[in-house]
Amino acid sequence: MAGPEGLVIGHRTIDEIGKHSLLVSPQNYEIWINYITHSMPDLRVALDKQMERGELDAEHMEEIYEKFFSTTQLSTQVMETGSRITHEIADALDALNRASTTTERYGATLSVASESLQSATIDGDGLKRLVSALTNATHEMSKQNSTLSQKLSRSSQEIENLRTSLRQARAEALTDALTGIANRKLFDETLRLRKDESDAESSDLCLALCDIDHFKSFNDTWGHQTGDQVIRFVASTMSKFALPDHLVARYGGEEFAIIMPRTTLQEAVKTVDQIRVAIEAKRLVRRSTNETIGAVTISFGVAKYDGEEAATKIIARADECLYLSKERGRNRVTTEAQMDSPASEVA
Ligand code: GH3
Ligand code: MG
Ligand code: MG
Repeated sequence: MAGPEGLVIGHRTIDEIGKHSLLVSPQNYEIWINYITHSMPDLRVALDKQMERGELDAEHMEEIYEKFFSTTQLSTQVMETGSRITHEIADALDALNRASTTTERYGATLSVASESLQSATIDGDGLKRLVSALTNATHEMSKQNSTLSQKLSRSSQEIENLRTSLRQARAEALTDALTGIANRKLFDETLRLRKDESDAESSDLCLALCDIDHFKSFNDTWGHQTGDQVIRFVASTMSKFALPDHLVARYGGEEFAIIMPRTTLQEAVKTVDQIRVAIEAKRLVRRSTNETIGAVTISFGVAKYDGEEAATKIIARADECLYLSKERGRNRVTTEAQMDSPASEVA
């Protein structure tokens, strides 16, 4: 959206905000630019409904922002770029307005000149004056045009910066700070997307949930910082064994999830069991003191998407399987195919 197209969307966003008598704040800008570009269908539906009910004041905007962007809080950098861009656009609009006045004046000068030329009374001096007036007017016009073009190019550069900042802020908002893997929000978004895809393609979709075994006592023995080190180790091992289209996410404190599209239950078990074995095999060393911590183990629960079911349903089944893994002795993988059968470790 670099250049003039971005500028047009910027203008339209500000127009739309003005139309509803709202403040041009970075938050409102983010809401309405997504409305205008149709990039968030749910947000559009919600705003259309609010408009129908005539409920579009600052308070409702705050609710909308909270609902759709609360975890995508804008970074300070974006906030600053947001207000800079608002000024840039206002400046560019101002320049455009001034340019149109100059153009009108230039047009008037030309038509007066044309009338004078057609009259038979014009003499040599008159012609000189006319040429000089035309030269001045043309000079002024060209100066105005170059100012305008500079302003517009600065504005489109600012818009490009804003887009980059927004992209970075979004990536940040979807990443877990401790491990660098996807966070719960990206997990929720991806699961919704993969569910739709699986419905459309009638393809398999599996979800694995994982929880570190006896982590509380691990923390008690080695301290929270070493605990964090283990959480990072588990996250990186999971990422290492996951396939490119899998999504590995930190689901909660010491809980992780892997969304596995186009994957059968059997294939899913194969991947997660590799992870389980790799974690169990690693001899961890406490970074601060070089002490050997020994092994950490993890348990998995794996469920297969049943088609057209709510995300909460498949999550609940994977969680139930995870619970069974814990109950059956931990450091194991349980799938929903083994839910009713007696304890059996999948190797
Ligand atoms: P189980 O095998 O049944 O899962 O036992 P557990 O002790 O791991 O289970 P529980 O869920 O009761 O404990 C989880 C612990 O994880 C509690 C909490 O202190 C710890 N934890 C959660 N988030 C973090 C974190 O970000 N860092 C660290 N170091 N510990 C965390
Ligand atoms: Mg837990
Ligand atoms: Mg645990």
